[in-house]
Amino acid sequence: MACDFLSLAMPGIQKLSPYVPGKPVEELAREYNLDPASIIKLASNENPMGPGSMALEAARRELVGLPRYPDGNGFLLKQALLEHLGIALNRITLGNGSNDVIDLVARTYLGPGRNAVFSRYAFAVYAIATQSVGAECREVPDRDWGHDLEAMLAAIDTNTAVVFIANPNNPTGTWFTAEAFDQFMQRLPENVLVVLDEAYIEYAEDDSLPDGLQFVSRYRNLLVSRTFSKAYGLAALRVGYGVSDPEVAETLNRARQPFNANSLALAAAAAALGDKAYLEKSRDCNRLGMEQLEKGLKTLGLSWIPSRGNFIAVDTGRDGMQVFQQLLKQGIILRPLNGYGMPAFLRITVGLPEENALCLDALGRVLNDV
Ligand SMILES: *Cc1c(COP(=O)(O)O)cnc(C)c1O
Repeated sequence: MACDFLSLAMPGIQKLSPYVPGKPVEELAREYNLDPASIIKLASNENPMGPGSMALEAARRELVGLPRYPDGNGFLLKQALLEHLGIALNRITLGNGSNDVIDLVARTYLGPGRNAVFSRYAFAVYAIATQSVGAECREVPDRDWGHDLEAMLAAIDTNTAVVFIANPNNPTGTWFTAEAFDQFMQRLPENVLVVLDEAYIEYAEDDSLPDGLQFVSRYRNLLVSRTFSKAYGLAALRVGYGVSDPEVAETLNRARQPFNANSLALAAAAAALGDKAYLEKSRDCNRLGMEQLEKGLKTLGLSWIPSRGNFIAVDTGRDGMQVFQQLLKQGIILRPLNGYGMPAFLRITVGLPEENALCLDALGRVLNDV
């Protein structure tokens, strides 16, 4: 009899469905026979500006070193994080993207008999990381699409080892204040590790949001994760980092794959930290693009969830999947949110001004037909 390799997998894995990424440009070009250059992808919260010249140059310089393993300690990137953000070297855990850090936390602190608490409409990777190691997902109902920190505290029991929180949250763009977060941390059992996912913090531009780095020295059970995939424009290189108590960092390091951050990524990320002009431009581009999208959506009579990220979740008032499909035919890739239990919503990443304009135009045309 033939083996059923799905049913041979660990139970947590069997119950997973694979992560659905934004549709790649090349795939759409093949399916509809479109010119890839004419396709607009606003589906994965990528930086629309192209890479920064300093990061690009640094990555280029590393190419001759391809035969050699990267520095497994990532010393130069850690040094740059110290120099630019004041993060002590022994608090840093580098990852192959910040998803790798999330996965590392799950492998280190979660497993059968333990649970992770996170919110409804939270980032899909938390459930994947948790279930993959046989731990239980405790999904807590949202409050107005965002984190209900009170309810999350109430969901914690003696088997809770990790709480995952994104601020701002993806896919909803919602956020909470420093005050609310501080109160949450004060009331949290000190043996529960909080992962504060700040993938979009560079875009938040709102003083009321907590700067996770300010809280790490106050709470030993806090790990802040950040990434170079969004505002720094390096998603393809896969590099992010965790900032935590040195003891947590040392523990995570035991489970870390050697060489998880590659040499091009290490060099480009270190250079990107020094490219203040690029980061400023990313923020400016996002602020203007967000205003443009909100104005356009209002004209179209659509509502949305206010966002502090580089994306916006729009209520199409219809079957969002159908709107998504129609937009594909026009060469526009957005992100349907049916997988998040938000079937009427599409998530739009803030693009360049002309991309935003074309997206709004296409949306206007499609809404009349669906
Ligand atoms: C995009 C994103 C990340 C970043 O993932 P990387 O692995 O660093 O590319 C992390 N968390 C959230 C909530 C995100 O949306």
